[in-house]
Amino acid sequence: MAARNHNSNNSLNHQRLRLTIYGAVQGVGFRPAVYRLASELMLAGWVVNNVQGVVIEVEGPTPQLEHFLAQITRHPPPRASIHAVDTAWLAPTGATGFAIRQSDDHGQKTVLILPDSATCTDCLADIIDQTNPRYGYPFTNCTNCGPRLSIIEALPYDRPNTTMKHFIMCPDCQQEYNNPLDRRFHAQPNACPSCGPQLFLAHQASSDPLADAVAALQQGQIVAMKGLGGFHLLVDANNTAALLRLRQRKNRPAKPLAVMVRDSAMAHRLCIVSPQEEALLHSAEAPIVLLKRHPPASDIAPIADAVAPASPRSASCCPTPHCITCSWQHLTHR
Ligand SMILES: [Zn+2]
Ligand SMILES: [Zn+2]
Repeated sequence: MAARNHNSNNSLNHQRLRLTIYGAVQGVGFRPAVYRLASELMLAGWVVNNVQGVVIEVEGPTPQLEHFLAQITRHPPPRASIHAVDTAWLAPTGATGFAIRQSDDHGQKTVLILPDSATCTDCLADIIDQTNPRYGYPFTNCTNCGPRLSIIEALPYDRPNTTMKHFIMCPDCQQEYNNPLDRRFHAQPNACPSCGPQLFLAHQASSDPLADAVAALQQGQIVAMKGLGGFHLLVDANNTAALLRLRQRKNRPAKPLAVMVRDSAMAHRLCIVSPQEEALLHSAEAPIVLLKRHPPASDIAPIADAVAPASPRSASCCPTPHCITCSWQHLTHR
C-alpha cells in the first residue's frame, strides 16, 4: 500500500480530509464501514464509489480525522485490499451529517472487483436456522460473502450494474440494505426467498427442486447444476456405475474428479487434512484442495475408486460453491 499525502496540515482546528482509496474496495462492505466509522467519530461528510475505487470526504476535529484515516487504512473490511491511498487536507465547509452518495461512473475504470466468495458463517447460520426467514435459501449472502464478479455487468459495483437488478428487494431486504448496523447494509446481491432468485428444475415440474435433485443423484443420475459462474456436473461419489457413465459422456477416462464435502468434519473423515489445508477449505475463495485420502472409514460410504482412478492415494476434495453448500446444509439439517 502506498500513501501519497498532499498539503498536509496538522492544525487542531476543524478540517476536511479527502481520501481516494484504490484497490479491491468495492463489494467488500467498504462504504458501510466508512459510514459506521464516520458516524462513531461524529464526522460529517460523504463516501462514494467511483470507477477507480472509493472516495471519502470527512470533516471534523483534526485528531478525529487522523484517527479515521488510520483506522480505515489499517483496518479495512476483511475482504478489502487497499493498493494506494491519496489524501488531501481541505478547508472545512461546515457540513453536517454523513451520507453514502450515489455512485459516480465517470472516468477511467481501474477499480478491482473481487471474485465470488463462499457463504460466510453468519449466512450459513441464517440458512440452517428454522426460525430465520432465509432458512434453506441457497442464495443467501451479505457484504462479507456471496457473488461479485459473476453478477457484475458494469462498474462501479452497484445493484443496478449487476444481474440482481432484475430482482426488486422486498421491504425486509430493503430495510437491511438501508440499515448501517446491518451486515447487509449496501449488500448489492441482497435477497431472500420472497424477493430473490429461486431454484427450479429445468426438465420437470417440482415443488421442491432441491430434494428432487438430490433424489436424482441418489438414483444414480447425473445432475447439471447451474451456478453463478457456470455448470457443475454432479454425481454420487459412491456410485461407480454413475461415475463411469459421467466419465464416458465427458470422455474423461481417468482425470480425478473433485469431491464435494459438506464440512471439515466430513473432509477429515475422508482425508488427511493439515492446518494449512483446513485454512484453505474455509477461506473465502473456497478453492478445490488436493488432499491425501484415508482408508475408508466405517461411518461413511467410501469414495468410489472411479473418482480418481489414476491417483489411488489421493482425492480432490473441495468445499462446495456457496449455492451448493447452502443446499447441502439445508438438506442435512431438516
Ligand atoms: Zn454472508
Ligand atoms: Zn427479500
